[in-house]
Amino acid sequence: MANNKAKLFVFSAPSGSGKTTIVRDVLKNFPDFEFSISATTRKKRANEKDKVDYYFITEAEFKEKIEAGEFVEWEKFYDYYYGTLKNIVDGNLSKNISTVFEVDVKGALKIKDAYSNSVLIFIAPPGIEELKERLIKRNTETDEDLKKRIERAEMELSFKQQFDYVVTNINLSEAKAEVKRIIESEINKEK
Ligand code: 5GP
Repeated sequence: MANNKAKLFVFSAPSGSGKTTIVRDVLKNFPDFEFSISATTRKKRANEKDKVDYYFITEAEFKEKIEAGEFVEWEKFYDYYYGTLKNIVDGNLSKNISTVFEVDVKGALKIKDAYSNSVLIFIAPPGIEELKERLIKRNTETDEDLKKRIERAEMELSFKQQFDYVVTNINLSEAKAEVKRIIESEINKEK
């Protein structure tokens, strides 16, 4: 795609790092960008909307999509499946629209393998203790899920060196501003 300046901005972070808030801010600051709505088999949380936050589908439907090759990448964790839909990414690229992703670290690396115009941004928590506190305060998970998420956070942190940018979320408004600067510089790079 010779003249296509669209990019894939892929965000990863341990849960509770403020990633969702930062991603929402990106979509507000760059209204032409589209969010890549993933498919998942996990249950919808009270504050989430189907087809906005995720496509909430059954495990059988998810497996059909795997078989049909509809995912750029997919992962299974916490007993649930999550996957990036190829038609969303390709549809946006064909219209020269940049896409924003919120996926786990392994998914991010797979997206970059599939699309070289990806920019990987890791949002790091100030420390593992703060992360635990934020997750407990958020109070959206059972104790068992919380434990799994903290273990997973430790694993995800070990991947951050493989990202193009690492933004440490010590102060949310500073982290948002840093992400905005990164995206602006990436967009202007190609012009
Ligand atoms: P949550 O259940 O908190 O919404 O998401 C759990 C994890 O799944 C987060 O790390 C989130 O970024 C990741 N995730 C969401 N969608 C996808 C996806 O399509 N692919 C992959 N690999 N991870 C995803």
